Amino acid sequence: MTQTQWTAVDDYITDLLIPSDSALDATIQSTIDANLPKINVAPNQGKLLHILAQIQGARRILELGTLAGYSTIWLARALPPGGKLITLEANPKHAEVARQNIDRAGLSKIVEIRIGAALDTLPQLANEGQAPFDFVFIDADKVNIPDYFKWALKLTRRGSVIIVDNVIRKGAVIEADSNDENVQGVRKFNRLLAVETRVKATTIQTVGSKGYDGLTIALVIAD
Ligand code: SAM
Repeated sequence: MTQTQWTAVDDYITDLLIPSDSALDATIQSTIDANLPKINVAPNQGKLLHILAQIQGARRILELGTLAGYSTIWLARALPPGGKLITLEANPKHAEVARQNIDRAGLSKIVEIRIGAALDTLPQLANEGQAPFDFVFIDADKVNIPDYFKWALKLTRRGSVIIVDNVIRKGAVIEADSNDENVQGVRKFNRLLAVETRVKATTIQTVGSKGYDGLTIALVIAD
């Protein structure tokens, strides 16, 4: 199997199941125009997040890692009336591009962007009493995933869902002696997850237009 084939199959799925959408298309275009990294989730992954948030019945969503707001828009559209999404982004330029995209999508009353390193903004959310969140999507820097997961546990409740993206890293996750700090971040997270009794979790490998990677889904089973 090759990247070309994975991309072609993703394109086939997207053509069938994910109709073109002006706000999402403009968000992808803004990523190119603003020279942002093309590291947003793929359309079929965005729709997966949207469906999972709806299955959970999420009314309050927390996202770590906004970029241009592509996954943010998918997730915010899963919210019922009165729902709220807070997304955390360290890079002010990314946050500004995202703000424009979220405005264009008509979601500015539902979505709040917090600018700053997530390890600084997460304690603020706790202090403000923003928890509990029903659904958390962790997709910021990978080295801090262990700490983000600990924060996600603090900011959720029994029944909440936590998704962690990019946890396979082209298979490098099994390299114990890797000198890639992102791989080591994921491995440390996996050690935490393995002994964490407050969640029921699994990890799925994925291939597609974004290459070979994977995601963890954790259901919080204790307060
Ligand atoms: N979730 C987005 C999507 O699918 O459309 C993609 C997010 S991208 C993979 C990761 C984002 O996390 C980048 O915009 C980056 O600037 C941001 N980021 C990196 N380190 C961060 C940190 N310490 N705190 C908050 N955001 C961070």
